[in-house]
Amino acid sequence: MKTIYMDNNATTRVAPEVLEAMMPYFGEFYGNPSSAHTFGGQVGHKIREAREKVAAFLGAHPDEIIFTSCGSESDNTAILSALQTQEGKRHIVTSRVEHPAIKVLCSHLAKRGVRVTEIPVDREGRLDMERYEESLTEDTAIVSLMWANNETGVLFPVEEAARMAKERGILFHTDAVQAAGKIPIDLDRSAIDMLSISGHKLHAPKGVGILYVRKGTPYAPFLIGGHQEHGRRGGTENTASIIGLGRACELAKDHMAKENTRVRALRDRLEQEILTRVPRTRVNGAGAERLPNTSNISFEFVEGEAILLLMDEFGICASSGSACTSGSLQPSHVLRAMGVPFTMAHGSIRFSLSIYNTEDEVNFVVEKVPAIIEKLRSLSPFRKTEEVACAREV
Ligand code: PLP
Repeated sequence: MKTIYMDNNATTRVAPEVLEAMMPYFGEFYGNPSSAHTFGGQVGHKIREAREKVAAFLGAHPDEIIFTSCGSESDNTAILSALQTQEGKRHIVTSRVEHPAIKVLCSHLAKRGVRVTEIPVDREGRLDMERYEESLTEDTAIVSLMWANNETGVLFPVEEAARMAKERGILFHTDAVQAAGKIPIDLDRSAIDMLSISGHKLHAPKGVGILYVRKGTPYAPFLIGGHQEHGRRGGTENTASIIGLGRACELAKDHMAKENTRVRALRDRLEQEILTRVPRTRVNGAGAERLPNTSNISFEFVEGEAILLLMDEFGICASSGSACTSGSLQPSHVLRAMGVPFTMAHGSIRFSLSIYNTEDEVNFVVEKVPAIIEKLRSLSPFRKTEEVACAREV
């Protein structure tokens, strides 16, 4: 059975060009980039090259790039660094719809006496900018707002939010894990102080990330020990992956053009066809500015996990907005923050496309999904249960 992969916000395929760039560094060139000898030094040189490629992609200086192990590490480092370098400031501003790498860290810090303000979003997932402005205080150590939401693709006006923070002397971090490679980023003309990227979301491998730290930004490392990354992140480098990430950043310009034309057109058609063919559906965040590859569709009175299972039988890979925790299906915190009704939030599916998806794949999905939903709606007593649950929620 052919796999139809529409779960690219979860992870992406490593681009063949990226894999090719990486392979020699698993085999022949296994030296430690920090070694004094030429054998290791040539690997160190490739890491410097990768750093330059990443910097060029972001409109940054190579010294502003720190290689990390993932987007989560970059996110954690940014927040913890800000609290450490600005002793006395004990307030974080973030949003209600952040990825757990920020959200759960902030909850953890809140239990340890840090004040956390989560800015709400409207029904389309747009940030409440008035509440945001009001939340900035002299005690605020850092603002952390995601650039693009991983579940809905909704974009936050991070440049504007960063300028507002800068005017008040507050550090600004953005989780750009889903934005990088899909929309342009130019840090040279930006007020953003720190920015996180994850390799595996832009056709580089898993287990490598970037934290951008603007020159002059106070910074405290999270991983202490080694001198690597100029003492800003200890640990022997994930050499092959860093080289792969550099190559992915080189390719990203071309990929981005495709994301905004071909991928956007495929996504729009997928959405329109499903909405036309399946009654009682809605696209979450459709009224907001969104990533070109993401479509979060709610199917009323159907359980998201059940849709996923039936799609899986046809080789279709997507994600559900629900998380199965301790036997109870909890609708996603993002959709709940947007006020999506329970019966809709429960049956939400995220399709996230990439440059590797084809027209034929979209045709296949829009042919299968209506039959799957019809089958589930006719078979399941879920609809009645949901109606009761919905009444209880209200
Ligand atoms: N931030 C966002 C918005 C994400 O979507 C993800 C991963 O899904 C992360 C952070 C975490 O990245 P990583 O998997 O590299 O830790």
